[in-house]
Amino acid sequence: MSIRYIDEIENLAGKKLFMRVDFNVPLDDNQNITEDTRIRAVLPSINYALDNKAKIILASHLGRPKGERKEKYSMAPAAKRLSRLLGKEVKLAPDCIGDEVRAMINAMQPGDVIMLENVRFYAGEEKNDADFARALANDCDVYVNDAFAVSHRAHASVEAITDCFPVVAAGFLMKNEMNYFDKAMQNPIRPLVAILGGAKVSGKIEVLDNLCDKVDKIIIGGGMAFTFLKGMGYNVGKSLVEDNLIETAMKAYEKARAKGVKFYLPVDCVVADQFNPAAETKVTTIQEIPEGWMALDIGPATVTLFAEALQNAKTIVWNGPMGVFEMDAFSRGTFAMVSAVANSYALTIVGGGDTDVAVHRAGEYAKISYISTGGGAFLELLEGKKLPGIKVLEDKGHK
Ligand code: AMP
Repeated sequence: MSIRYIDEIENLAGKKLFMRVDFNVPLDDNQNITEDTRIRAVLPSINYALDNKAKIILASHLGRPKGERKEKYSMAPAAKRLSRLLGKEVKLAPDCIGDEVRAMINAMQPGDVIMLENVRFYAGEEKNDADFARALANDCDVYVNDAFAVSHRAHASVEAITDCFPVVAAGFLMKNEMNYFDKAMQNPIRPLVAILGGAKVSGKIEVLDNLCDKVDKIIIGGGMAFTFLKGMGYNVGKSLVEDNLIETAMKAYEKARAKGVKFYLPVDCVVADQFNPAAETKVTTIQEIPEGWMALDIGPATVTLFAEALQNAKTIVWNGPMGVFEMDAFSRGTFAMVSAVANSYALTIVGGGDTDVAVHRAGEYAKISYISTGGGAFLELLEGKKLPGIKVLEDKGHK
């Protein structure tokens, strides 16, 4: 079943449009927003609703208040920033449910925007509680989900709330995420290459398994490579290894080989005598990692190998850094891969965890076809899962 999108809703004018957004932005100690990509990402949907004279009620979570009202998790900074970005007042409601909020909503004029307080101030949110969802719907007319990054959560404002509306739809951010994911994983132009990195194999086993069925090549870097390399008999020193997952990693490797998927692992690495930015470092081959040292980045020969493997790619999907890119000494491999991906002639999709941070830090984000706003949600799509927040929109999109 197909999803209805915000531009397929009839007669938005004057309607109370409840929009779930993800304004879970990073804040400094003085409650200043340090990065507002998540707010900017929803502007197309908000502006569309404004152009169509809807009354816009925004709902989001911020941080982990664990079902209690805690002022440091107030949506106030997000409302203020949105107000600046839209160039119009965004009123912050005193709560996300209750008579006062409903009165405020009922007094809205077309084109007004209200930001509800943090939905996670109530335990019912994470419990997907139907009563909380009904209260949260605040008698609004239409529901739009444009919070891709929380669509893997069956929470009240994402899932249960859809039962309270005759019309549910997805916003433009969600549309972009779905379209690019479809181009990458459902209907890719081949060769399709997946790059996987990050700290651990655990949490990415299902991704690996699903990728083996879909991709032409898998490139593995980051800490997770060393569980594979140890399984292959290399002595990897004190590098990150999950001994309990060696067998699973080897099974994934065998599955890839059996399916004819080309499987690339590092051939050299940057090793350090300690996990520290000031550690002593050197480049060694995988065969020569010194006892007691740890590999914290891929080496230059690996960069050449991986870049070569990307040469004929028509589609590239990337999750997870190639090394501990947060420390300068171990950032080169990740940044070199950002450059290789950015300069490839492929459709390039990056997402999950810190990969978007690495791409931004490398200054190459403009050359990537699409940077997903979803961390966990993007990973779950890569695992081949149906996200609860998307499934309800499919089920109820055209009722
Ligand atoms: P993940 O959340 O699994 O994608 O992991 C991201 C983290 O993996 C980053 O913070 C990196 O610092 C870390 N990482 C990448 N490569 C290594 C490595 N070789 N050893 C230890 N940590 C790593």
